[in-house]
Amino acid sequence: MSSARESLVVMKFGGTSVEDAVAMQRTAAIVAGRRNKGLNAVVVVSAMAKVTDLMIASGSAAGRGDRIGALAISERLRTRHIDTAIKLLESERFLRLRPTIDSEFDALDDLLRGIAAVGELTPRTADLVVSFGERLSSRIVAEAFDQHGIAGVHVDARSCIITDSTYGKGVPQEAAIEAKLAELVLPLVLAGQTPVMGGFIGSNEKGITTTLGRGGSDYTAALVGGGLHAGAIEIWTDVNGIMTTDPRICADALRVRTISFEEAAELAYFGAKVLHPATILPAVQKSIPVWVLNSRNAENEGTKITAMAPPCASPFKSIAAKKRLTIIDVVASRMLMSHGYLKAVFDVFDKYQCAIDMVSTSEVSISLTVDSNQRLPEICAELAKIADVKLEGNKALVCMVGEDIRGHNGIAGRVFSAISHVNVRMISQGASEINMSFMIDEEDVEEAIRSLHRVFFTDVDETVFDVTARRAVVSL
Ligand code: ADP
Ligand code: ASP
Ligand code: MG
Repeated sequence: MSSARESLVVMKFGGTSVEDAVAMQRTAAIVAGRRNKGLNAVVVVSAMAKVTDLMIASGSAAGRGDRIGALAISERLRTRHIDTAIKLLESERFLRLRPTIDSEFDALDDLLRGIAAVGELTPRTADLVVSFGERLSSRIVAEAFDQHGIAGVHVDARSCIITDSTYGKGVPQEAAIEAKLAELVLPLVLAGQTPVMGGFIGSNEKGITTTLGRGGSDYTAALVGGGLHAGAIEIWTDVNGIMTTDPRICADALRVRTISFEEAAELAYFGAKVLHPATILPAVQKSIPVWVLNSRNAENEGTKITAMAPPCASPFKSIAAKKRLTIIDVVASRMLMSHGYLKAVFDVFDKYQCAIDMVSTSEVSISLTVDSNQRLPEICAELAKIADVKLEGNKALVCMVGEDIRGHNGIAGRVFSAISHVNVRMISQGASEINMSFMIDEEDVEEAIRSLHRVFFTDVDETVFDVTARRAVVSL
């Protein structure tokens, strides 16, 4: 049993890796490659690219009473899934699967009609609407795997991923998940099959559908990897690994060969979309290495996330940015240092379960930054009872991460001279030894990141960063 577990790899494929028939074929070939090496695989898939956004849009349309608009979106999605299955599968196999696809979409349509009739979309119903994305993609991918000779078998993730009832951001119940995986998934692996399950979705103890929050399929992969004590977790996406910054912002971003769990978690939390923030934890707790790999370039060795990062001559590994933040200035003359005042302020945020990203204090004021989607009007109304409150929206947090910041003197000076043309509103260094972060206007983010990238990633430690792509450009 233990060797079956060591040779078990949990492979998660994101939306772009299952976006159409061609991508699903590539995914099947990648999994077949792992199996040919003697590994067992459990596969977690996202919804096909953009499907979750469209399902959210259909639920919102129904919630506004726009039944026709909601059903039109669902109809387009039905056609896309059926067309994909037709292109991907032999005709007999497609004909066997088609009734399942249709009955899922019929159920979605019934649900949308019901929501439109009531004219209200509750968080619980919204989770049920979006769950169809992963339910459908996993069904089609399982068939594709079976056709590819790798014994694909569909598992409804909701039977294994047990969460509490926080709709929209279910909290996984790890002991229950581990028990369900041992009961429902491990026997399939031991029988030589390749279980395929949707990421992102789960259910509470009453069997009601929940989700883990946007980008949550990474989290599912980590829960499945952790729960099955897998030998490795692979996150397959559309870039070569964790890069020195989002390659959509800096085309010359470099692949980071190895990064520590702590650095990766910090990057994910501060906006690097490549990994869901909570992904790392279940893996760290069980010391399971996580790899980030490119399904469009499967030969690339990707990024390895390990407990300890190798020493690096460069201070930073990567730059992330989190947008749509708001700064809240809480000003109370002569009150700041008085006993219990800070607690009173933080209690308000706690009451509304609002996470604070950054805090700085002066003699008379506290500045805090929060996600703009929070319940800001209620929070401000409560704070106004004890202080003057001022809000500044459209802010962004830029976060530079690296274990080796501590070994370098004068780093702050280099960072701020690189962005001397940008207005910096708040700075934090030292709260975590491995990150340096600052708040700027949202519109300055791309320019600030490019400037910092030029300064810190032009001349890099080649044992940690892969510069081959850059060399190829230079020698052209
Ligand atoms: P998936 O659908 O596979 O989950 P995501 O879109 O969630 O993929 O994440 C991959 C994207 O993350 C990349 O296309 C890239 O633009 C973005 N990204 C942001 N920061 C980074 C980074 N530091 N390294 C790599 N990719 C990043
Ligand atoms: N499909 C979900 C989303 O788009 C989960 C995921 O892809 O990780 O957020
Ligand atoms: Mg993702």
